Amino acid sequence: MTDIIIIGGGPAGISAALTAKNRGKSVKIISNNAEQSNLWKAKLVENYPGCPSASGQDILTTFRKQIDDAGIEIITARALNALPMGGSFSVSCGQDYYEAKALILAAGITQQSTYPGETEFLGRGVSYCATCDGMLFRGKKVAVIGLNEEAASEAEFLRSIGCEVEYFDKNRAKKFEIRGEDKVTQLLADEIAYTVDGVFILRSTIAPSSFLTGLELDGGHITTNGTMKTSINGVFAAGDCTGRHYQIAKAVGQGNSAALAACEYVDKT
Ligand SMILES: Cc1cc2nc3c(=O)[nH]c(=O)nc-3n(C[C@H](O)[C@H](O)[C@H](O)COP(=O)(O)OP(=O)(O)OC[C@H]3O[C@@H](n4cnc5c(N)ncnc54)[C@H](O)[C@@H]3O)c2cc1C
Repeated sequence: MTDIIIIGGGPAGISAALTAKNRGKSVKIISNNAEQSNLWKAKLVENYPGCPSASGQDILTTFRKQIDDAGIEIITARALNALPMGGSFSVSCGQDYYEAKALILAAGITQQSTYPGETEFLGRGVSYCATCDGMLFRGKKVAVIGLNEEAASEAEFLRSIGCEVEYFDKNRAKKFEIRGEDKVTQLLADEIAYTVDGVFILRSTIAPSSFLTGLELDGGHITTNGTMKTSINGVFAAGDCTGRHYQIAKAVGQGNSAALAACEYVDKT
């Protein structure tokens, strides 16, 4: 079992990984591609020490190289949820699961609101992963709300296994509501009702409330104390996901603190 799994490979996650590795802990980062970090979008960064007049892309490339040089594994995947296992945590990335003694959440600014009915029907018709849950809907009618780059190919996969797919890209509808009783029966898209057995919501990020049940939030941001502990024992958070200000230096500093606190936690368990 890994000591510490870090969700997110931006400045906060990278800083946390380097510190935890430096303290002798086994570490894995699970992250989307570097291009999906907010930092990648910054054309010019002039307030991060040591990297004068660099682009966000330059800085992140240097950060990622340091991770590779330190021999830290980055698993390129979207983490879907984490489950407490009584002293450890199991992180699902679809068909793959990873177990760790402690978690550091460093997923950046994630979408903060869910659609009405989304959390209520999660696992009862709502899914975040077509390749993981698609088989359960073989021969049935499903809706795909495609908000990430892989969405169109995931919808194609569902068609290929025999699902009847109603596909919604960003332009087709803006407002969604999921309805049902025991299970999903209907998707309301811009007030038009579609009868469906399942709804796949494919975003590149997962709302913290859906990722880990019981995580205390403040306006969608993860609540932490001064040492970056969250409301769940063994779970720490750092960077933009903990709230303003959204800055690289703050993310890096919090990543460092979260790692030190996570190392102490692992040493005591
Ligand atoms: C255009 C722009 C310009 C900016 N300019 C500056 C500047 O000049 N100076 C400055 O200090 N700051 C600047 N910032 C802010 C800075 O980029 C952020 O504060 C910083 O990147 C936060 O780091 P982070 O690690 O918390 O999050 P991020 O950099 O967003 O990294 C989080 C990573 O986690 C991944 N992730 C999210 N959810 C999951 C999941 N479920 N599974 C796997 N991976 C996941 C994301 O895809 C991403 O790669 C700028 C931001 C933008 C958008």
